[in-house]
Amino acid sequence: SKTRKLSIVGARGVGKSTLVVQYVDNYFVESYYPTIQNQFTKFVKFRNNTYEVEILDTAGQDEFTIVQSGPIVHGYILVFSLNSRSSFDLMPIIRDKILDSTGKDDIPMVLVGNKLDLERKVSKEEGLALAKEFGNIPYVEVSAKLSGNTGEENTDINKIFLKLLEQI
Ligand code: GDP
Ligand code: MG
Repeated sequence: SKTRKLSIVGARGVGKSTLVVQYVDNYFVESYYPTIQNQFTKFVKFRNNTYEVEILDTAGQDEFTIVQSGPIVHGYILVFSLNSRSSFDLMPIIRDKILDSTGKDDIPMVLVGNKLDLERKVSKEEGLALAKEFGNIPYVEVSAKLSGNTGEENTDINKIFLKLLEQI
Protein backbone atom coordinates (compact mmCIF):
# COMPACT_ATOMS: atom_id res chain seq x y z
CA SER A 1 0.00 0.00 0.00
CA LYS A 2 1.09 3.56 -0.57
CA THR A 3 -0.18 4.80 2.75
CA ARG A 4 2.37 5.99 5.27
CA LYS A 5 1.40 6.74 8.83
CA LEU A 6 3.44 9.29 10.72
CA SER A 7 3.09 10.60 14.23
CA ILE A 8 4.30 13.95 15.54
CA VAL A 9 5.26 14.01 19.20
CA GLY A 10 6.76 16.39 21.73
CA ALA A 11 5.94 18.61 24.69
CA ARG A 12 2.84 20.75 24.71
CA GLY A 13 3.21 24.06 22.92
CA VAL A 14 6.31 23.28 20.85
CA GLY A 15 4.36 23.78 17.62
CA LYS A 16 3.36 20.26 16.55
CA SER A 17 -0.08 21.27 15.27
CA THR A 18 1.34 24.41 13.68
CA LEU A 19 3.96 22.41 11.78
CA VAL A 20 1.41 19.90 10.53
CA VAL A 21 -1.00 22.59 9.37
CA GLN A 22 1.86 24.44 7.63
CA TYR A 23 2.86 21.23 5.91
CA VAL A 24 -0.61 20.16 4.87
CA ASP A 25 -2.30 23.51 4.21
CA ASN A 26 0.55 26.06 3.98
CA TYR A 27 -0.69 28.49 6.57
CA PHE A 28 0.33 29.57 10.04
CA VAL A 29 -2.17 29.12 12.85
CA GLU A 30 -1.83 31.59 15.68
CA SER A 31 -3.72 29.39 18.11
CA TYR A 32 -4.94 25.88 17.87
CA TYR A 33 -6.97 23.80 20.28
CA PRO A 34 -4.14 22.27 22.29
CA THR A 35 -6.05 19.27 23.53
CA ILE A 36 -7.33 17.90 20.26
CA GLN A 37 -5.74 14.90 18.68
CA ASN A 38 -6.19 15.07 14.96
CA GLN A 39 -5.33 13.18 11.86
CA PHE A 40 -4.26 14.94 8.68
CA THR A 41 -3.78 13.53 5.20
CA LYS A 42 -1.58 14.82 2.42
CA PHE A 43 -0.79 13.24 -0.93
CA VAL A 44 2.93 13.49 -1.48
CA LYS A 45 4.90 12.80 -4.64
CA PHE A 46 8.06 10.96 -3.71
CA ARG A 47 10.40 9.03 -6.03
CA ASN A 48 7.86 8.69 -8.86
CA ASN A 49 5.13 7.49 -6.55
CA THR A 50 2.29 9.28 -4.84
CA TYR A 51 1.94 8.41 -1.20
CA GLU A 52 -0.98 9.06 1.06
CA VAL A 53 0.72 10.43 4.13
CA GLU A 54 -1.40 10.30 7.25
CA ILE A 55 -0.12 12.38 10.13
CA LEU A 56 -1.33 11.79 13.64
CA ASP A 57 -1.05 15.07 15.52
CA THR A 58 -0.85 14.00 19.15
CA ALA A 59 -2.00 16.15 22.04
CA GLY A 60 -2.20 16.06 25.77
CA GLN A 61 0.07 15.03 28.55
CA ASP A 62 3.53 15.54 27.12
CA GLU A 63 5.42 12.26 27.37
CA PHE A 64 2.21 10.29 27.84
CA THR A 65 0.82 11.21 24.43
CA ILE A 66 2.65 8.75 22.25
CA VAL A 67 1.60 5.63 24.10
CA GLN A 68 -1.94 6.01 22.80
CA SER A 69 -0.84 6.46 19.21
CA GLY A 70 -2.14 2.98 18.55
CA PRO A 71 -1.79 0.88 15.43
CA ILE A 72 0.98 0.94 12.90
CA VAL A 73 3.05 4.08 12.78
CA HIS A 74 5.80 4.01 10.19
CA GLY A 75 7.77 6.94 11.53
CA TYR A 76 7.92 9.62 14.20
CA ILE A 77 8.67 13.33 14.15
CA LEU A 78 10.15 14.33 17.48
CA VAL A 79 9.67 18.05 18.03
CA PHE A 80 11.07 20.39 20.63
CA SER A 81 11.18 24.16 20.77
CA LEU A 82 14.59 25.79 20.35
CA ASN A 83 13.22 28.32 22.82
CA SER A 84 12.56 25.74 25.54
CA ARG A 85 15.18 23.71 27.34
CA SER A 86 12.60 21.52 29.07
CA SER A 87 11.04 20.50 25.74
CA PHE A 88 14.53 19.48 24.57
CA ASP A 89 15.14 17.48 27.76
CA LEU A 90 11.91 15.57 27.11
CA MET A 91 13.14 14.17 23.79
CA PRO A 92 15.09 11.15 25.14
CA ILE A 93 12.17 10.25 27.41
CA ILE A 94 9.72 10.32 24.52
CA ARG A 95 12.07 8.34 22.30
CA ASP A 96 12.44 5.64 24.96
CA LYS A 97 8.65 5.44 25.26
CA ILE A 98 8.29 4.99 21.51
CA LEU A 99 10.90 2.25 21.45
CA ASP A 100 9.32 0.55 24.47
CA SER A 101 5.81 0.70 23.03
CA THR A 102 6.84 -0.58 19.60
CA GLY A 103 9.22 -3.21 20.95
CA LYS A 104 11.71 -2.23 18.25
CA ASP A 105 15.17 -0.84 18.72
CA ASP A 106 15.09 1.04 15.46
CA ILE A 107 12.16 2.94 13.95
CA PRO A 108 12.34 5.86 11.49
CA MET A 109 12.56 9.21 13.28
CA VAL A 110 13.48 12.82 12.62
CA LEU A 111 14.47 15.32 15.31
CA VAL A 112 13.08 18.84 14.82
CA GLY A 113 13.97 22.06 16.62
CA ASN A 114 11.07 24.46 15.97
CA LYS A 115 10.66 28.20 16.71
CA LEU A 116 13.95 29.20 15.14
CA ASP A 117 12.61 32.78 15.08
CA LEU A 118 12.64 33.05 18.89
CA GLU A 119 15.49 33.42 21.37
CA ARG A 120 17.53 30.26 21.27
CA LYS A 121 17.93 28.21 24.46
CA VAL A 122 19.27 25.11 22.74
CA SER A 123 22.27 25.31 20.41
CA LYS A 124 22.50 23.73 17.00
CA GLU A 125 25.42 21.62 18.26
CA GLU A 126 23.26 20.20 21.04
CA GLY A 127 20.51 19.33 18.58
CA LEU A 128 22.99 17.65 16.26
CA ALA A 129 24.60 15.76 19.14
CA LEU A 130 21.24 14.43 20.32
CA ALA A 131 20.29 13.32 16.81
CA LYS A 132 23.59 11.48 16.62
CA GLU A 133 22.92 9.84 19.99
CA PHE A 134 19.52 8.75 18.63
CA GLY A 135 21.28 6.65 15.99
CA ASN A 136 22.30 9.36 13.52
CA ILE A 137 18.77 10.44 12.67
CA PRO A 138 18.24 13.63 10.63
CA TYR A 139 18.12 16.93 12.52
CA VAL A 140 16.18 19.90 11.13
CA GLU A 141 15.74 23.41 12.57
CA VAL A 142 12.68 25.32 11.41
CA SER A 143 10.25 28.07 12.18
CA ALA A 144 6.63 27.28 11.52
CA LYS A 145 6.01 31.01 11.86
CA LEU A 146 8.65 32.53 9.57
CA SER A 147 6.97 31.39 6.40
CA GLY A 148 3.79 33.09 7.57
CA ASN A 149 0.66 32.84 5.52
CA THR A 150 2.17 33.00 2.08
CA GLY A 151 0.27 29.97 0.85
CA GLU A 152 3.56 28.71 -0.53
CA GLU A 153 5.05 25.37 0.33
CA ASN A 154 7.64 25.78 3.06
CA THR A 155 10.77 23.98 1.93
CA ASP A 156 12.25 23.57 5.40
CA ILE A 157 9.09 21.98 6.71
CA ASN A 158 8.83 19.77 3.62
CA LYS A 159 12.37 18.65 4.42
CA ILE A 160 11.25 17.17 7.75
CA PHE A 161 8.71 14.94 6.06
CA LEU A 162 10.95 14.02 3.13
CA LYS A 163 13.75 12.98 5.47
CA LEU A 164 11.33 10.76 7.32
CA LEU A 165 9.82 9.25 4.15
CA GLU A 166 13.34 8.53 2.88
CA GLN A 167 13.89 6.26 5.88
CA ILE A 168 10.55 4.52 5.44
P1 GDP B 1 1.48 21.97 20.06
O1 GDP B 1 0.90 21.93 21.44
O2 GDP B 1 2.83 21.32 20.04
O3 GDP B 1 0.57 21.43 19.02
O4 GDP B 1 1.76 23.51 19.73
P2 GDP B 1 0.92 24.48 18.78
O5 GDP B 1 1.07 24.10 17.36
O6 GDP B 1 -0.47 24.58 19.31
O7 GDP B 1 1.71 25.85 18.98
C1 GDP B 1 1.79 26.48 20.25
C2 GDP B 1 1.98 27.98 20.04
O8 GDP B 1 3.27 28.23 19.44
C3 GDP B 1 0.96 28.61 19.08
O9 GDP B 1 0.58 29.87 19.59
C4 GDP B 1 1.72 28.75 17.78
O10 GDP B 1 1.22 29.81 16.99
C5 GDP B 1 3.13 29.02 18.27
N1 GDP B 1 4.17 28.61 17.32
C6 GDP B 1 4.26 27.44 16.65
N2 GDP B 1 5.36 27.40 15.87
C7 GDP B 1 6.00 28.58 16.06
C8 GDP B 1 7.22 29.13 15.56
O11 GDP B 1 7.96 28.54 14.77
N3 GDP B 1 7.56 30.37 16.02
C9 GDP B 1 6.77 31.06 16.90
N4 GDP B 1 7.20 32.27 17.28
N5 GDP B 1 5.63 30.58 17.39
C10 GDP B 1 5.24 29.35 16.99
MG1 MG C 1 -1.31 20.57 19.15
